Amino acid sequence: MALRQTLGVVIRLADLGEADKIVTLYTPATGQISGIAKGAKRSLKRFVNKLEIFSLLDLEYSDHYRLPIINQAELLNSHLPLREDYHAYTAAALVCELYRLWTHQGDHDQGLFALLNWVLARLQHREGRLESLVLFLARFYRRLGYQPDLSGCVSCRRLDRQAGPFRFQARQGTIVCSHCRPRSSAPGLSIATVRLLGRALELPLDKLSRLRLAPASTREALALFKEHDRVLLDRELAAWNFLGE
Ligand SMILES: [Zn+2]
Repeated sequence: MALRQTLGVVIRLADLGEADKIVTLYTPATGQISGIAKGAKRSLKRFVNKLEIFSLLDLEYSDHYRLPIINQAELLNSHLPLREDYHAYTAAALVCELYRLWTHQGDHDQGLFALLNWVLARLQHREGRLESLVLFLARFYRRLGYQPDLSGCVSCRRLDRQAGPFRFQARQGTIVCSHCRPRSSAPGLSIATVRLLGRALELPLDKLSRLRLAPASTREALALFKEHDRVLLDRELAAWNFLGE
């Protein structure tokens, strides 16, 4: 039986029968994996306080069976504040749901793993929490290759103050200016929001924290990504509706 070791962040937990749990993780080496933690519900010493949502673990598992068996887990970071605050929890839950839906076993990506740890660390702070979520969403869709095209109005290519406000066309993933489509009912995007998101798509992760979004831009950007997400996944994730503050 092949024993494997990996880092992983718990993105979902489910009960399995009386005693076991199915743990889904995002890992840097194999992408998303789900495994059985035998006896996890009986709080055996090797799992107690470790198999919790958002935890960063160092795992040992055997992949002899179709569903791997998790033998041991070492807790590296519990991200505990995310489980103790409602707003932090809902934002982090949305992030984990996106990883669960967008990633698969085998399509590992070190960048996505680093991004997950980056956003879970940032969401613990009340200050700028939704801003961090916006920056995360920009990088996440960029990494997946599904970033919206914010380079200018899709029709006339303008990207200046006089052309705004812009509208996001979710079906095409593009923006259009108020001159080309004066009667659009889609939520407006100010030029400031469009430019900031454009920069967020380009900046490397270690420079991302430098960007500052005004509350109005944060709201506009969240509305954009919620719509983007709904169109791409062809459904609305419940987690979006619990975001607040
Ligand atoms: Zn235009």
